[in-house]
Amino acid sequence: MQLYLTREQASTLIQDAQHQTPNEACGVIVGRNTSATEIIPLPNIAQDPIHHYRIDDRALVSVLARLEQDRVSLLGFYHSHPEGEPIPSSEDIRHAHYPDAAYVIVGLRDAQPAIAAWQIQHGTVQRVDLHIGLIGLTAVSSEPEQMSQAQSVAILLSAALAFVFLIVVALSLLPAPPPLP
Ligand SMILES: [Zn+2]
Repeated sequence: MQLYLTREQASTLIQDAQHQTPNEACGVIVGRNTSATEIIPLPNIAQDPIHHYRIDDRALVSVLARLEQDRVSLLGFYHSHPEGEPIPSSEDIRHAHYPDAAYVIVGLRDAQPAIAAWQIQHGTVQRVDLHIGLIGLTAVSSEPEQMSQAQSVAILLSAALAFVFLIVVALSLLPAPPPLP
């Protein structure tokens, strides 16, 4: 699984994490294919927001409700570990209910903030390839599928034309029918 963030989006994540400290920040990442188009910070309504995060359900529902209209999809969630590393806690793993989403974590333990992304499927954690600041490549990376579709259409079309041409040539090469008596 891949996730592309722009530098601005990554710094939005870090800034939200720093701004919410000592609480955990949280929010969602929406976009197209594997490229984020928007980082949406949401309220952390956990009873103990210093050690936990819980995204406000209503806020989440209203974000999800406008995804289709904006032609984007939910790519993932993010939250911060104000004093930890960007690695999912056992609670993060237990509460990950979206197996296709990327769970981005901002770790603020060290002077240099760290970001990592994870895919959590029914208790199994896999690292997501997180690309930051490769938006030029990102734009390209969403193209090949469309291009190859267009290419395959072009190939099919030229194959069909070649076939028609072959038939026309074959017919024109047929010996003339014998003259009728
Ligand atoms: Zn966590």
